Amino acid sequence: VKRAGKNDYELFVNSMNVVAKRRLELESFLRHAIDNKELSVNYQPQIDIPTGRIIGAEALLRWNSAELGMVSPVEFIPIAEETGLISPIGEWVLREACRQVKEWRDDGLPEIQIAVNISVQQFAKQSLDKLVSKVLLETGLPVHCLELEITENMLMDDVEGAVETLHKLKDLGINLAIDDFGTGYSSLSYLKRFPIDKLKIDRSFITYVTTEPSDAAVTQAIISMAHNLGLTVIAEGVEEASQLEFLRQHHCEEMQGYYFSRPLIASDMEALLRSHKGS
Ligand code: C2E
Ligand code: CA
Ligand code: CA
Ligand code: CA
Repeated sequence: VKRAGKNDYELFVNSMNVVAKRRLELESFLRHAIDNKELSVNYQPQIDIPTGRIIGAEALLRWNSAELGMVSPVEFIPIAEETGLISPIGEWVLREACRQVKEWRDDGLPEIQIAVNISVQQFAKQSLDKLVSKVLLETGLPVHCLELEITENMLMDDVEGAVETLHKLKDLGINLAIDDFGTGYSSLSYLKRFPIDKLKIDRSFITYVTTEPSDAAVTQAIISMAHNLGLTVIAEGVEEASQLEFLRQHHCEEMQGYYFSRPLIASDMEALLRSHKGS
């Protein structure tokens, strides 16, 4: 027993070292990711449910590190946030996504709206509206083609500040969506104070929407509440025909998920838009 205990302890210390080492590596390699051109943006189509047409895409950041290989954003975004690297990285994603969608638009491909994830640090800064207008000006993307995704909890940390920031963005004509809706702690009474356009129902509800009555109830409630507030609804994580059918029956406007397409590299998204053109 004593031996096993000691081994457990050694295992624990070793695994702590592994975690700490990985973190240090991630942090130091992430510092050079932009300059080394290791970052790219993937595009996941967003579909208008009634017509089946691609009307948008979410920009999803990818990091192919020379030293570590592909690293998931789930792992490196939190580190980018803690170290402040999210500022240059977030700005890079915004600019790259706007530049790409402007290029597709100029090529005559079907117009799509691009949804860009905004991190808590970016949102808390006073100057987000200035950054966004600068990037739109530089890339030439029309403002109605841009949507920002903000999570619920970012709004609830400082409600007054959030209302102000959202109004500044809304005044520019930017579309605003609340991401991962239903997972946070936002109070419904606050929702109407935020000048938002869209709610994105979190994947965790959609996964079991046809098998778990409680997830079906939450999804239905979000859709009808959103509609009562004049908001559009998009469901994320749609993987099956039956889930899409549920959403259609409950008048959810848009969907995104593996059922239609995984996130695509830019050239594959472009090919998809090209083939979509005449249909
Ligand atoms: P998110 O904003 O909730 O993005 C949706 C995630 O779900 C993406 O994971 C996407 O690939 C995945 N997904 C889409 N459809 C399906 C589906 O049908 N089934 C399943 N199982 N998953 C699906 P990804 O690309 O790994 O991104 C993870 C998270 O990293 C994002 O969650 C977002 O919070 C963050 N992230 C990604 N790119 C950026 C970025 O540019 N900036 C910031 N601040 N965060 C980002
Ligand atoms: Ca998102
Ligand atoms: Ca989401
Ligand atoms: Ca989610």
